[in-house]
Amino acid sequence: MPRTRFAPSPTGLLHIGHAYSAMFTMEAAKGSDVLLRFEDIDAGRCRPEYYEAIDEDLSWIGFKWTEPPIRQSDRRHHYEAALESLKQRDLLYPCFCTRAQILDEEQRIAAAPHGPDGPHYAGTCRRLSSEDVQQNIDQGKPFSLRLKIDKAMSSLGRFTWYDQEAGLQQVNMEDFGDIVLARKDSGLSYHLCSVVDDHLQQIELVTRGQDLMPSTSIHRLLQELLNFTVPQYHHHKLVADENGLRLAKRRQDLSIRDLRASGLSPIELLNQAQIRLV
Ligand code: GLU
Repeated sequence: MPRTRFAPSPTGLLHIGHAYSAMFTMEAAKGSDVLLRFEDIDAGRCRPEYYEAIDEDLSWIGFKWTEPPIRQSDRRHHYEAALESLKQRDLLYPCFCTRAQILDEEQRIAAAPHGPDGPHYAGTCRRLSSEDVQQNIDQGKPFSLRLKIDKAMSSLGRFTWYDQEAGLQQVNMEDFGDIVLARKDSGLSYHLCSVVDDHLQQIELVTRGQDLMPSTSIHRLLQELLNFTVPQYHHHKLVADENGLRLAKRRQDLSIRDLRASGLSPIELLNQAQIRLV
């Protein structure tokens, strides 16, 4: 009876894929705790009206949470403490590259390997001298914080994690570049906040879509670095649209809200999700 969580981002209305995911989580808990966590660190994309809509739509499909929901936007100090601990061990470095510079660099290195967040970063800012770093900071240039992936992995060696559906997964350093743990805009990242919260909320089973499997390797790495307990993982199938493609939030016609307005009952909606799994 594992303690689980559902962690939507209030950046749009929940759709039929979220409905499936939420109910999958609740069933996996088998009567144990189910937590609702709003992943809302991206202030530019989150909207106040979506928190309430998510509450309401989840309640309508029968998803029940057992503790008051938390919002990541209220918990910055926890994530900053984790960043500080990595900084202390010289595992982070500031990156001043603009999006355009990164794109340019990617085009130059045509065959750059890809990780969960896109092509691997070429490491440009890692080669900056400490004087240049200081100068950039003094000039007020915005920066992200990247993980020194080789240093992080060298202390750990290869390791694995287990997915309840896909089985054993190997984590290799070559799977990632120097990933961003603190973004320029928010000073935080999904990977960092998700791992810190799963730890602090004592989550025993993480359930989410298979599209997030590559992120889980990063999460396992962060858990190792931060000495966190490791939950179990179950990445479930995704609900597809009528063309067999993964749903995006912009598909408002497949939102729980619109399907409900079209006369569907919660059971019918969940049945539809079930037959569209890919
Ligand atoms: N906030 C993420 C999303 O809405 C969920 C990630 C997770 O469950 O870890 O896709």
